[in-house]
Amino acid sequence: MYSFPPALANLIEQLSSLPGIGPKSAQRLAFHLVAESQERIEQLVETMVQAKEKLHTCRECFALCDGERCDVCADAERDQGTLCVVQDTRDVFALERMNAYRGLYHVLGGAISPLDGVGPDQLHLRPLLERLKHAAIHEVILATSTTMEGEATAHYLAKLMRGVEDLRVTRIAHGIPIGGDLEYADDLTLARALEYRHEMA
Ligand SMILES: [Zn+2]
Repeated sequence: MYSFPPALANLIEQLSSLPGIGPKSAQRLAFHLVAESQERIEQLVETMVQAKEKLHTCRECFALCDGERCDVCADAERDQGTLCVVQDTRDVFALERMNAYRGLYHVLGGAISPLDGVGPDQLHLRPLLERLKHAAIHEVILATSTTMEGEATAHYLAKLMRGVEDLRVTRIAHGIPIGGDLEYADDLTLARALEYRHEMA
């Protein structure tokens, strides 16, 4: 039986370890890549290395950016009193895309998920509480996903922030399908979810 040469099998294995790429797609990609010119491959690799080297998390909100602070945190025109808490930098881009939110963000870096070994300590929670202490924030909008983990995280945060004086804690409305990630919601749904946010009990 003829099987893939080790270098090809290795490439397929590496590609299939990427999210959203099953074995079939990995094979297709691998065959595509080996047929590309040496120059194109070097360009691809260089782009990945550059992205890895240049991208960091913003020292204030933990969104991915290529400087010390992201564009939102660096923008003095943004509403410094509202903070939208999201799970991932992708959610920041989803919310920015609809151009309706003018406040700041805080990226948690995930959601509480005991099954996956993610507890509060694995998320950027402490820096969030620090921000609330030192900045003039009067509203925190909890915009974690409507998945079980996202809901659990929102409740955990609401409880944690209950003691903070003069702070309104709201949750985005359920225009987002249950079990849904913000990233995949259409702009109108996302805008409505933000507009009809409600107080967390
Ligand atoms: Zn930032």
